[in-house]
Amino acid sequence: MTRMILIGPPGAGKGTQAKHIAERLNIPHISTGEIFRRNITEGTELGVRAKSYIDKGEYVPDSVTNPMVEARLAAPDTENGFLLDGYPRTVAQARVLHEALASMGSELDLVLEIDADLDEVVKRMLHRAELEHRPDDTEDVIRHRLEVYTELTEPMATYYEEHDLLRRVDGNGTIEEVTARIDQILDEL
Ligand code: AMP
Repeated sequence: MTRMILIGPPGAGKGTQAKHIAERLNIPHISTGEIFRRNITEGTELGVRAKSYIDKGEYVPDSVTNPMVEARLAAPDTENGFLLDGYPRTVAQARVLHEALASMGSELDLVLEIDADLDEVVKRMLHRAELEHRPDDTEDVIRHRLEVYTELTEPMATYYEEHDLLRRVDGNGTIEEVTARIDQILDEL
């Protein structure tokens, strides 16, 4: 049973590593970015509400994001744990998550932060833009997303550090190298 969240700047390799972690621990991988993108593709009301923010590299408002995550965490497949990828992203969301879990009688076990050099993440995201054609992967939007990360999400890492939940892992290097570093941490669970 592991309830964990994965944080790190855009382009640090969260999505790739999240898939590995979820498989290894046999827990569902819940990516808020993916849920938003699916809703946008399907043209749902949630997708319509989220799209303009995502296209600009801004965070979707909590009034949209928090209920979406709470509904997802209420699904039966999270009973043996979960890996949240991309949520929470602010101290305010972290507090909401804490309350939501507490009301279900549970709490987080681990917050894993993947760190990577800024130059490296910009390079990786521009490469991904060529492959995936995500509308929020243009150079201007990428730079803005990094600024938003520094301003709003880095303080959340400090919040979790203060709550003794944070483990940091070096996200520079190849996918395999980063996976090996993460596996070392998971071995200790
Ligand atoms: P990601 O796939 O995690 O990079 O997320 C893509 C985009 O979805 C972000 O740049 C935000 O616009 C939006 N998003 C994802 N998760 C959240 C969240 N927890 N709070 C607000 N916006 C989010």
